[in-house]
Amino acid sequence: MTEPGERFFPFASIRAGQREFMKDVRDTVESGKILIAHAPTGIGKTVAVLVPAVQYALENEKTVFFLTSKRSQHKIAIDTLRLIKEYAGPMLNLVAVDITSKQSMCPRATSVQREFYSLFSEFCRYEQKNKRCRYFLKNDEEALQRIKGEILHVEKLCNWCATRGVCPHKAALEVAEDADVVVCDYNYLFAPDIAEKILEKIETGLEDLIVIVDEAHNLPDRIRNNLSNTLRMSTVTSAARAIKYEDREMHGNLVELENIFTKLVKKASANNGVEIAVERDFLEEEIEKVLRRRIDRINYDEFVKRLHSIAEDFENKKEKEREEVQRNIITVAEFLDEWRTRERCVRIFSLAQRDNPALYFKLLDPSVISEQKFARAHSTILMSGTLCPTSMYADVLGATQDRIKGKEIFMREYKSPFPEENRKIVITEELTTKYTERGEEMYRRVAAKIGEVARYVRGSMAVFFPSYALLNSISAYLPEDVSRRAMVERQKMSKREKNELYELLRDTDGGILLAVQGGSLSEGIDYESNTLKAIIVVGLPLSPPTLEVKMIERYYADKYGSAKGRLYGYLYPAVTKVLQAAGRGIRSEQDRCIIVLMDYRFAQYPYKNCLPPDYDVTVTCSAEADCKKFFA
Ligand code: SF4
Repeated sequence: MTEPGERFFPFASIRAGQREFMKDVRDTVESGKILIAHAPTGIGKTVAVLVPAVQYALENEKTVFFLTSKRSQHKIAIDTLRLIKEYAGPMLNLVAVDITSKQSMCPRATSVQREFYSLFSEFCRYEQKNKRCRYFLKNDEEALQRIKGEILHVEKLCNWCATRGVCPHKAALEVAEDADVVVCDYNYLFAPDIAEKILEKIETGLEDLIVIVDEAHNLPDRIRNNLSNTLRMSTVTSAARAIKYEDREMHGNLVELENIFTKLVKKASANNGVEIAVERDFLEEEIEKVLRRRIDRINYDEFVKRLHSIAEDFENKKEKEREEVQRNIITVAEFLDEWRTRERCVRIFSLAQRDNPALYFKLLDPSVISEQKFARAHSTILMSGTLCPTSMYADVLGATQDRIKGKEIFMREYKSPFPEENRKIVITEELTTKYTERGEEMYRRVAAKIGEVARYVRGSMAVFFPSYALLNSISAYLPEDVSRRAMVERQKMSKREKNELYELLRDTDGGILLAVQGGSLSEGIDYESNTLKAIIVVGLPLSPPTLEVKMIERYYADKYGSAKGRLYGYLYPAVTKVLQAAGRGIRSEQDRCIIVLMDYRFAQYPYKNCLPPDYDVTVTCSAEADCKKFFA
């Protein structure tokens, strides 16, 4: 029997866990609350969240804002919406639009403009204001009707609009005004200033949004990274050199900025030799001091503005030279502009690359952004296959006593709907990548164990390492029969090369992928058709105890107590990467995979408490025997 909220469910049957999740989504939207859902792969969460959310939105004139962190997730959401529309037939007049960033949709943006939003935004604003963009000037009702009627993938939408000479972003936003669902990037809600502008353009208030955050384990870091930036000394030097003959005064100002870096190098060297914390006001005061001494007295703001306009003036130079110079000058300008944020940030000067020091900052607490959004939105659903423990995500995103500014939070952890016997999880004793036990002897033993396990795997497998350094150190000792079948991820591989590596693995029977945890091969790629029959996760990708990690730990320790400081700042981010890598094997009911967690710490406190409740593990020193049995 169809329950309320299941009316548009487009498949014949509802999976175990899926119905429960749909009911929770329905309750969340009806009561205007927040749901934090750990929903393992296989529950079919995209359709389970969209069906009740869309139905509620249509009945109550709300808009579903489906937010993703990656482009691949857009495709799944749009395909699901098309299925729902097709299934419901003429009784459902569903309007949904797929939007990515303005610069990525613009048919005119150059590669540097795609990289730097400020440069692109200035260009686009100028073109619009001076009526120079023919795409913007053209109104095409037919194009709008097609976007409204068809639910197009963003690539198709952009191509269609570009061939008709219409601005794709403008057209998509016009359709978004009447849309029931908008599929877009996290930035459309969480990047500073963007949400207000977009919501104003599509004439919708936050109060009317049902917010769905897909792969929400990425949200805290994404919010932090949105308010972060790095400036390297080499960038300042190159920018100064490039304008030496164009603008002597600004050249002098940039040389003074280099001198401030030199001062920081001395300070850091005298301190611990690696990194030091820098106060927000220090840089501003130093720059103001320097600018006051110059002939052409300008202040900090004018300095930043002049850098921006110099970068724009480089438009007429030769293509290659222009891009390089623009990139350097804009990097300096954007950094100085963003450095002055009043939000609490980690601010560090680092000598990690001795010959190219860096100054960087990063938002400390993502809840300063997320809390206000969740409090004002009509309702919010945060979902992921690795949103575990849900209570940590609630805390990190702004909960106090299970509420965000008075809004109640539901926390749910659903069980995997797949047969338990299809997944075996083994923790190996005696092996580790713990810093104090690293060395040739341990690398040999880990490599030998990988070889022993690999011998019994029927099909292809992946081994995920905590870092490229450990991948290289351990793989040097892999037995010959493993090395021969290995396909290795390298540090500087492009996205395309990584995709090719995946395709090669998919098309080779018995291939062995060697890659890193936290990379796109362990998180971004969806391994189709049970490509991976075994996954070995070697060690834990714990961050080195940098000043940044210590500052985050200290911050959460002050806020939630010392135990949570360590968990939130240090342990959970590493465990999330492990779970992402381990979860690549089973994507459907028929898939079978053995997961070997190759580090004894997974069986010990506090790490074992970080594993999801449905992880039924066997601790052993002979993982190869379990592997043999699994494939027998
Ligand atoms: S108006 Fe549209 S097409 Fe024109 S520059 Fe801006 S984004 Fe590009």
